[in-house]
Order: sequence, then structure tokens, then C-alpha cells
Amino acid sequence: MINISKPVLDDAEVNAVIGVLRSGMLAQGEKVKELEKRVADFCRVKHAVAVNSGTAALHTALYSMDINSGDEVITSPFTFVASANSILMQGGKVVFADVSENDSNIDPNCIEKKITKRTKCILPIDLYGQIYDYDKVKILADKYGIKILEDACQSIGAEQDSKMAGTFGDAAAFSLYATKTITCGEGGIVTTDSLEIADKCRMFRHHGQSEQTRYEYWDIGYNYRLTDIQAAIALAQMDKINLFLDKRNSNAASFNNAFSGITGLIVPIAKPGNRHGYHQYTLRITNKFKSSREDFVEHLNGKGIRCGIYYPKPLHLHKHFTKMGYCAGDFPVAEKLSKEVVSLPIHPALSSDDVNFIIKTIVNYAR
Ligand SMILES: *Cc1c(COP(=O)(O)O)cnc(C)c1O
Repeated sequence: MINISKPVLDDAEVNAVIGVLRSGMLAQGEKVKELEKRVADFCRVKHAVAVNSGTAALHTALYSMDINSGDEVITSPFTFVASANSILMQGGKVVFADVSENDSNIDPNCIEKKITKRTKCILPIDLYGQIYDYDKVKILADKYGIKILEDACQSIGAEQDSKMAGTFGDAAAFSLYATKTITCGEGGIVTTDSLEIADKCRMFRHHGQSEQTRYEYWDIGYNYRLTDIQAAIALAQMDKINLFLDKRNSNAASFNNAFSGITGLIVPIAKPGNRHGYHQYTLRITNKFKSSREDFVEHLNGKGIRCGIYYPKPLHLHKHFTKMGYCAGDFPVAEKLSKEVVSLPIHPALSSDDVNFIIKTIVNYAR
């Protein structure tokens, strides 16, 4: 059985955890600080603030960017639900804009039509690990005085023109969940060049207290702290991040090479100047392909290759968004993509036999 994702953990992570357990300091402490410094240096960004999930990172970032009740945030309907739920957590209004077929991410042309006086933030996703095309959105953000939050939960380590994921907005959110490029089970990180945003993040994760004066509460806050146990695992993963990314990219290159000629099958394309994070390797099965997507998936499952559908139903068709008035037909491109996409295992734990087996299985099936 070849799984869709698999964390790569070895003695380094095991020993890191044992070290923390022996130290007796389990909650947020020196290891968290070390991780923050490590991630900030890696991304070449001034501040990194660790929290206990990617969702918490998005929520914390929105709070710290002053997104409040009634503020409108424009995002994609074709993403993981946390991108949009974080807006609701701050009492904001989720304004979806349709995606483009090129990169399955929000179409800048659709964004401008959604901007109103209440628009405070645009929240693009570095979907599947590829950095979003921020240039056009930055022009809009400057023109209308809107902030940008980068959902980088899938893209740690990705690069566009030598700029790292996590540096494209006023703030960004990473996830350290088990299926992500690096993991400590659960975890998240906010990155920003703004000291003001970073300071607010530190308070928000810690019940609204500044880290200097305890039991003095400046605003509502949450318990979003990461533990030193998790941070120690994430630090061990950071040692391997470039190996992981290289492996994901070389697996993707083998797949692209094998699949690009197949009728009706669209392979993912890394933009020029881009180091793709390949959190997911996502094909599109169009109606020109020899079978339906469902038959394709069933065939691969039958051969022991687990695929994923990211995402089978766009967010605007889920109950808590239809309640707001969204309905089928609102975002035709997102709706179409959700019927076409299928992600293959791409993770660094794949052996070359696994990669070859996946290629052989698909090429034979498509014949
Ligand atoms: C994983 C993910 C999140 C949420 O991260 P968690 O760590 O699971 O809370 C948010 N947005 C996107 C796009 C993700 O892939």
C-alpha cells in the first residue's frame, strides 16, 4: 500500500523528544524560541511566532492584522476549510472569489470585482505548495489599502524568484500538521516583518498577556501555545526540509515526464522562477481522458496506490456558507476543478520502486 502522505521521522526526532522530556520543561519554552528563530532565518523574515496549529496561525494573524467583526476578507472557495473558517473566527465576512484554471487559485480579475469599502484583507492560498501569483494582488492591495495574509500552510520552503513562502503578505501562516512538508503532529507558525503584528500574535496565543507582564490582560486571547516537545520535533524536521523538498520535486519531475503526453490528463506546472513545494502533486482528469476520475481513482486504489481529492466540494457549497447565500453556480471554475482533480502520493518516503510503480500503473491504464 502506498499512502498519500507519510511523515519521515527517525532517531533525530525520537532523541529530540527524549531530550525535552528529560529537561522537565514541556510547555512553551526555549525549544519554541529556537524553532521561531530557525524558521525566521530560513524564510528570511524578521519575526516568526509559533502556535499550535495552522488554523490557529491563520486566526492569530487575522487578529493581529486588525481584522474584526464585519470586515470582509476575500479568499478562495477551492481550499481547505480552515482558510475560510479563520475569517469567521474573527467575526469577519468570507467573500469568495472564483479561481483560475491555470493555478487553481483565486483569480486576481475576480478579486477586484469583490472589493468593497469593507474589504480589509485578501487571503490567497499557496495551493498544493506553489506560491500564489502575488504581484497582481499587491497592486490591488496598494490601490485600495487592503492587507494580504498568505495561507502558506502547504508551501513552507517554496520559493518564487528567490523569495521564500511566508514572505508575500503582511503576514503568513504555516502548518506543521502530520501531512504537511514538515511536521510535529500539530503546529503552526505566523511569519511577518512587522514587529507590531508579531507582538500582537505573541499576546493572542497567550491569553492576551504580554510575555513580560503576566496576569495583565490587554485583550481577549486564546491558548494557542506550541509545546517544546512539538518544537523539538519540528526543529529536527527543519534539518531535513531541503532534502524533503528536493525529493518532492524530483518525484514530481518523474511524474510530469511520464504523464505529460497522456490525452485528457493535465499535469501540474511549476511557474518560471518557482521552486514548487509539491505538498500535493495534483493531476486533472478532464472529459477527454479515457475514463472518469472516479474510475481512475478506483483503479489506483485497487493497485494499492492511495490518491486524494483536494478538494471534492468547494467551500461555498458547504452548509455554513450556503446559509450565507452562496449556491451552486456561483464559482464555476472551482466547481469544475473539484470534479477533475486527483492528487498522487509525492512524499519523500516514496522509494524509486514506488515512483516507478505509480508511473507504470497510470501509463498502462491510460493506454
Ligand atoms: C493544513 C491547512 C490549514 C490548517 O492547518 P492545520 O495545521 O491543520 O490547522 C489551513 N490552510 C490550508 C490551505 C491547509 O492546507
